Amino acid sequence: MDSASRLGFDILGDTLDWPFFEERHRVFAAELSGWADSYLADLPHDDVDEACRARVAALGAAGFLTATVPAAYGGLSDRLDVRTLCLAREILAARDGLADFAFAMQGLGTGSISIAGPEDMKRRILPDVAAGKRIAAFALSEKEAGSDVAAMATTATPDGLSHVRIDGEKSWISNGGIADHYIVFARTGEAPGARGLTAFLVEADTPGLTIADRIEVIAPHPLATLRFEGCRVPLENRIGGPGEGFKVAMATLDIFRSTVGAAALGFARRALHETIAHANGRKLFGGTLGDLQLSQAAIAESAAEVDAAALLVYRAAWTKDRGAARVTREAALAKLVATENAQRVIDRAVQIHGGLGVTKGVKVEELYREIRALRIYEGASEVQKVVIARELLKAKN
Ligand SMILES: Cc1cc2nc3c(=O)[nH]c(=O)nc-3n(C[C@H](O)[C@H](O)[C@H](O)COP(=O)(O)OP(=O)(O)OC[C@H]3O[C@@H](n4cnc5c(N)ncnc54)[C@H](O)[C@@H]3O)c2cc1C
Repeated sequence: MDSASRLGFDILGDTLDWPFFEERHRVFAAELSGWADSYLADLPHDDVDEACRARVAALGAAGFLTATVPAAYGGLSDRLDVRTLCLAREILAARDGLADFAFAMQGLGTGSISIAGPEDMKRRILPDVAAGKRIAAFALSEKEAGSDVAAMATTATPDGLSHVRIDGEKSWISNGGIADHYIVFARTGEAPGARGLTAFLVEADTPGLTIADRIEVIAPHPLATLRFEGCRVPLENRIGGPGEGFKVAMATLDIFRSTVGAAALGFARRALHETIAHANGRKLFGGTLGDLQLSQAAIAESAAEVDAAALLVYRAAWTKDRGAARVTREAALAKLVATENAQRVIDRAVQIHGGLGVTKGVKVEELYREIRALRIYEGASEVQKVVIARELLKAKN
C-alpha cells in the first residue's frame, strides 16, 4: 500500500459537518472509508477485467452496493440517495479509480430500471446488482452519436408480437465485455430524433449480441464496442414506454451526473493530499517546497477549487434528495465545475512533484490519467455549459 493509501476519514475535511448531511451519511462515509483503507489495496490490479469483477464482488459482499438500488429490492434507501452515491464515489475515487468505476456502473447500469423498469424486472435484477453478483452497464453512445444522442442509429424493430429485434453498434460502453446485462437505447421511431428512442434490458448472453472490439484508454477500465445483429429481446424487457427512451436516459443521468462530479472531487482531494505531503517533505533551497510562496499559491488555489467543487456537488445531491423532480442545472454545474477544477488541481499536483509527477506508479501520474475522461463522458464540459445556459435563459423568459 503506498504512503497515503490509509487516508481515513480526514480526507473529506469538514464536509460532513455541512448542513447537507444527516447522521446516516456520516455513518456510511466512516464505514466505507475504513473498509476501503483496509481492503482495496489487496484486490487484484493487473488484469483490468479481473480487477473490476473483484471490486464489484468485494463492494457487494461488504454491503456498499446497496446504495445503488432502492430499499424494496435490497437497497439502502427508499429511493436512490444521491448524497450517499456521491460520498461513495468521492471516498472510492480518492483511493482507487477502478473501485469508483465499479461502484458507479452498478448504479448507472440499473438506474433506468430503478426509475422506470417494470416491477418483475426490478425484482429479478436489482437484488443481485446490490449483492455484487451481477455486473451492470449502460449503453447509450454510438460512434456517430455521442454528444448528439438524437443521431442514434441502433434500431429496435418489432419481431412478432412478443419481441423486438435490435440491430446496430454501441461504443465506449463501460463494463463492455464483463457485464451481465446492458441497458440499451435504440431507435423505435415513434417520432423523429430523440423522441423516437426506447430503452431495453439486454442480457449479455442474448444471441446476436457480441463484443465487436475492446477499447483501451489512458486509465484502464473495461470498455467495449457492442454489436447487435438480429438480437431478439422480449417486450417485457422494455424500460419505460415506447418512445420514452430519451426521457429515461436523461432522468438516469440527472441522478448520476452529480456523482461524476463527486468522483472528480475524490481525485482532486487525493491530489491535494499528495501535494501537501510532497511540499512538506521535499527539501530544496535550504528549506521545503512548501516554504516557497509560489507553492503556497498553488496549494491555496487547489484548496479553493476543491471546496467550490464539493459545495456544488453536494448542493446538487441534496436538492435531488429533497424531492426535486429534476436538477438539470444544479447537476450540470456540479459536473462542469468539479471535473474542470479537478483537472487543474491534479495538474498542479503533478507540477509540484516535478519529475516524480510524470513517473509511472506515482499516484499523481495515475490521477492525471484518471481525471481526463470525466470531462468528456456523461456530457462533455461544453455540453454542460449549453445545458446551464439554456436553463438560465429559459428561466428569464
Ligand atoms: C472512458 C469512457 C467511458 C464511457 N462510458 C460510457 C458508457 O458506459 N455508456 C455510454 O453510453 N457512453 C459512454 N461513454 C461515451 C461518452 O458518453 C461519449 O464519449 C461522450 O458523450 C462524447 O461523445 P463523443 O465521444 O462521440 O464526442 P463528440 O460528441 O464527437 O464530441 C467531441 C467534443 O465536441 C465538443 N462538443 C460536443 N458538443 C458540443 C456543443 N454542443 N458545443 C460545443 N462543443 C461541443 C466537446 O468538447 C466534445 O468532447 C464513455 C466515454 C469514455 C471516454
